[in-house]
Amino acid sequence: VSPRRIVASSDVEQSYIMIKPDGVQRGLVGEIISRFEKKGFLLKGLKLFQCPKELAQEHYKDLKERPFFPKLIDYITSGPVICMAWEGDGVVASARKLIGATNPLQAEPGTIRGDLAVQTGRNVVHGSDSPDNGKREIALWFKEGELAQWESVQTPWLIE
Ligand code: GDP
Ligand code: MG
Repeated sequence: VSPRRIVASSDVEQSYIMIKPDGVQRGLVGEIISRFEKKGFLLKGLKLFQCPKELAQEHYKDLKERPFFPKLIDYITSGPVICMAWEGDGVVASARKLIGATNPLQAEPGTIRGDLAVQTGRNVVHGSDSPDNGKREIALWFKEGELAQWESVQTPWLIE
């Protein structure tokens, strides 16, 4: 078996999905990963990771003028997160739907935030908001060699 290569092919859509520290502390890791697995997307990268402050600031740089920014950085760096790269056509928009609205009280039942959270400041999961940001965020959170190139045996049963 040849060693798994680690690069994202640039033509394939990928989303950066992250279980935030509250999701890890509350024991929701399996439940959240399971929703993406069952939907039928392909997991290309996964790690438990303590996020340094600088990385959290870079990831959320578009929000740095917002009043809640310092609290957001404290939250994201308050414990380990689960970093994931998920792949598939339409994965970015679909993952946003699976995750639900930013405010969990407004998120529909059946979504991750709708089912598992009550506050915007503890909304358990992140998902990229565009394919470009998916690429940017995966490059930010994963190092070369941390993504696996593989195909699932389920693929022919998911994609005609
Ligand atoms: P998302 O794309 O649905 O995660 O939402 P945004 O990109 O607008 O915000 C990023 C993250 O910042 C959210 O998921 C929340 O964790 C946090 N956030 C956004 N708005 C607020 C707010 O008003 N208060 C607090 N405490 N956190 C917020
Ligand atoms: Mg966002």
